[in-house]
Amino acid sequence: MLWLWNTLILLASVVVMEGVAALSHKYIMHGWGWGWHLSHHEPHDGKFELNDLYAVVFMFMAIALIYIGVNGYWPLQWIGAGVTLYGVLYFMVHDGLVHQRWPFRYIPRKGYLKRLYMAHRMHHAVRGREGCVSFGFLYAPPLHKLQAALRQRHKSVNADAATITPPQDATSGRVKRE
Ligand SMILES: [Zn+2]
Ligand SMILES: [Zn+2]
Repeated sequence: MLWLWNTLILLASVVVMEGVAALSHKYIMHGWGWGWHLSHHEPHDGKFELNDLYAVVFMFMAIALIYIGVNGYWPLQWIGAGVTLYGVLYFMVHDGLVHQRWPFRYIPRKGYLKRLYMAHRMHHAVRGREGCVSFGFLYAPPLHKLQAALRQRHKSVNADAATITPPQDATSGRVKRE
């Protein structure tokens, strides 16, 4: 029965990793870790980005877990295997499908992959670190919710801008009074 436990632990680790990745993306990469992540939100040529160092950090964590696990600390190696599998899926969806960092072009036109693809495009629709939507990679909220969030943000940005520069009709109104 050990194989069953190992498989369950591996699969659970993949699920937990999506949560870990989404939270680190939101609170670390778009927070104090923005220095590395910024390179990914700027126009990039698909070669090495500073942001790739996050993948390297997770890779070392996976290697450490597997190493400690096989040296007598079951089931850490299976958690490490889950982190590795997550890394592979992350690479396929994020770097491959969305950012085309592999030599072939495939854009999903329907189903769940399309939702993941579109959701991450929307993550990149906002410039800068504030006000972004959809921080997960293997899970994405329904697209209409993301669209609503972006629209809401757009409105508040425009409202801010309106307080800085008075709208055209306000100026002409003053001209008329004079
Ligand atoms: Zn981001
Ligand atoms: Zn991205």
